[in-house]
Amino acid sequence: MKITITKTASPKTKPNDSELGFGKYFTDHMLISDYNEDEGWHNTRIVPFENLSIHPASTVLHYGTEIFEGLKAYRRSDGKVQLFRPMENVRRLNNSAERLCLPQIPEEDSLQMLIEFVKCEQDWTPSSPGTSLYLRPFMFGNDETLGLHSIKNARYVIIASPVGSYYKEGINPVRIMIEDEDVRAVRGGTGYAKCGGNYAASTRAGERAEKKGYSQVLWLDGVERKYIEEVGAMNVMFKIGDEIVTPKLTGSILPGITRKSCIEVLKNQGYTVNERLLSLEELEKAMEDGTLEEAWGCGTAAVVSPIGELCYKDKKCIINNGKIGKVTQELYDTLTGIQWGTMPDTYGWTYEIK
Ligand SMILES: *Cc1c(COP(=O)(O)O)cnc(C)c1O
Repeated sequence: MKITITKTASPKTKPNDSELGFGKYFTDHMLISDYNEDEGWHNTRIVPFENLSIHPASTVLHYGTEIFEGLKAYRRSDGKVQLFRPMENVRRLNNSAERLCLPQIPEEDSLQMLIEFVKCEQDWTPSSPGTSLYLRPFMFGNDETLGLHSIKNARYVIIASPVGSYYKEGINPVRIMIEDEDVRAVRGGTGYAKCGGNYAASTRAGERAEKKGYSQVLWLDGVERKYIEEVGAMNVMFKIGDEIVTPKLTGSILPGITRKSCIEVLKNQGYTVNERLLSLEELEKAMEDGTLEEAWGCGTAAVVSPIGELCYKDKKCIINNGKIGKVTQELYDTLTGIQWGTMPDTYGWTYEIK
């Protein structure tokens, strides 16, 4: 596909690695592509970063027709920049689009847009340990009418933000509260799609947990409030005795690329990993009899985030003395080793930007 590039006349001063944080700074350019029924995806362009201008009746502002992705470009020690499993994001974006009746993007075009954009912005990839260039592709319905019919106009945008290390003060396990009131998603709904609406529905529980001193909530399924689903905006895994358990993808769980990678790495290292239903009752039993050895969340931002405490109603359970467990640490080391290129990528998961 043809992508035109208009370079900025006034490049920004790049922030210091130490002040990056998450999603505070943006690079010099953005990629935009427009869709309509006649032309399909067209006018794909990399332009100077600027505010978007959309009609006040644009579908997304009223009906939440928005999906997104999140992935990172990593600076290796040899100076090269690489992506981690970008085709997985391309495919997931299309699965999300299908659910929200947004137009899909041919895989090869979508990958090309991502790569051309990273090529253009790669100088923005920071190099201090744990830092990366976070990429945020997103798509929204952009019909200029309040009537909601099938979407005839859409826009796809990619922006990028240099981000700091998730673990500046070392990997500290987080405290998690099991949420039994609000639900994030239901089967048949949009739980498996990466869409803004899921986040809108999750905010209240997250805020309540924070007020009580917890960093995230553990979601239960939306139908029976019986089975474990995810932790905040991460997938979740538990080591119970010799088994590693992660909730199976029932339709209300987001199919994380980190989750998928963790499963492959763990199986490859000889662990028994099962994707299955895990009830709260079973988890409570494992907490009580001491067989819950480790628990962690997994997602692109943190890679792996150990859980040091789980709280349900007024019961509290400290996991592995509130310290990161052996399996969690190994998993973190392996995945980050592959992502930042300090370990050989025997899986073929990395994509070098040339
Ligand atoms: C993005 C996301 C994840 C993690 O997916 P990764 O591909 O591993 O980053 C998990 N849960 C939710 C709700 C998400 O939005």
